[in-house]
Amino acid sequence: MIRPRILIIGQGLAGTALAWRLWEREVPFVIADRDEAVTCSKVAAGLITPITGMRLTVSWRYTAFYREALSFYRRCGKRLGQRFFFPRGYVRLLKNEAEIAKWHKRRRDPDIQPFLNPRPPVLDAEVIHQPENGFQQRHAAWLDTTAYLKASRGFFESLGACVKADVQPADVQDDATGVEWQGQRFTHVIWAQGWSAAKHPLLHWVPFQSARGTILTVEADMQGEKRILNRGCWLLPRPDGSLRAGSTYEWKFDDANTPAADQVSQLETNLRSLLKAPASVTAMQTAVRPIVKNHQALMGTHPAHPRVAFLNGLGSKGSLRSPWLARHLVEHLLDGTALDPELDLQRNEI
Ligand SMILES: Cc1cc2nc3c(=O)[nH]c(=O)nc-3n(C[C@H](O)[C@H](O)[C@H](O)COP(=O)(O)OP(=O)(O)OC[C@H]3O[C@@H](n4cnc5c(N)ncnc54)[C@H](O)[C@@H]3O)c2cc1C
Repeated sequence: MIRPRILIIGQGLAGTALAWRLWEREVPFVIADRDEAVTCSKVAAGLITPITGMRLTVSWRYTAFYREALSFYRRCGKRLGQRFFFPRGYVRLLKNEAEIAKWHKRRRDPDIQPFLNPRPPVLDAEVIHQPENGFQQRHAAWLDTTAYLKASRGFFESLGACVKADVQPADVQDDATGVEWQGQRFTHVIWAQGWSAAKHPLLHWVPFQSARGTILTVEADMQGEKRILNRGCWLLPRPDGSLRAGSTYEWKFDDANTPAADQVSQLETNLRSLLKAPASVTAMQTAVRPIVKNHQALMGTHPAHPRVAFLNGLGSKGSLRSPWLARHLVEHLLDGTALDPELDLQRNEI
């Protein structure tokens, strides 16, 4: 039997989780990444939230993903001697009468109960506008994606398993037993390249519907408030005292890193209607979330190229889902376990 050795393209949340999963199983790998200053994973706020959206629904398979994320990031943190995963209280404030009515109906539903902190949130009325009418969530968290990606990269480099490269599909030759890149042989390549995969010739049939998003870095005196707050936009107080606020969704765009002015101005308006404390916006970052229409994520090998695999479509939940998804794909490639039909690229061929 050929000993596995895997090439990963992309060191975002997807590629990094894949590399850790392989390292845990002592499978050799090389991770190649363009090392861009601004990427989706570097820009991400890293929020992990159980009850989301206007409909106040529990995020897809939250319990399984959260459990896996918690132990995965703690293990990585322990290995790297650094903490980047922080469980946090999460206060969702309700916007208007319609949302309040919706919440009164939803709050007794059994699926909500594990994530509901029964204590009503008490917020400082000097810091937050209209702090009444909200609820607190449990099992929410924040991943410091920048620290996690940087420390992981340093670790992979120390293993000699991380290189800076812009890998084009034509640079990777595949046959029935493996792939070749820069004169090196691998048993598989896994493309984990985020929204750029929309241009990958082997994925031309995948309905990417990626969304550009912007996040603000804000300075304000939160009077010691550490919880994540949300009404119209979310606000994340970070341990260094800075705040992040976001985010926008733009479905039509030309430039990946330049937001539309009206979107930014709407985000600032939402922020000011949430935050009463004087605030100044000190920075802004924009990137594109990889989204596949009607899918929570897609993974697996290409139908006609069994040594070429993909992990993509993490949407706005990469921090939560990448540890579970990466393990699932690695087990499929190494052990031959079946992929979840909802996530299997081959079963969802258009
Ligand atoms: C504004 C905003 C806010 C967000 N907030 C959150 C949040 O709060 N919580 C959360 O969980 N998620 C959030 N997300 C979503 C999250 O960022 C994504 O789910 C996640 O980053 C996707 O990771 P990825 O590895 O698939 O893609 P990417 O992060 O895009 O990583 C792909 C990597 O591959 C590299 N690459 C691409 N092509 C090549 C190539 N040809 N050769 C070599 N390297 C290549 C890129 O340079 C990049 O490093 C947010 C996203 C945005 C934009």
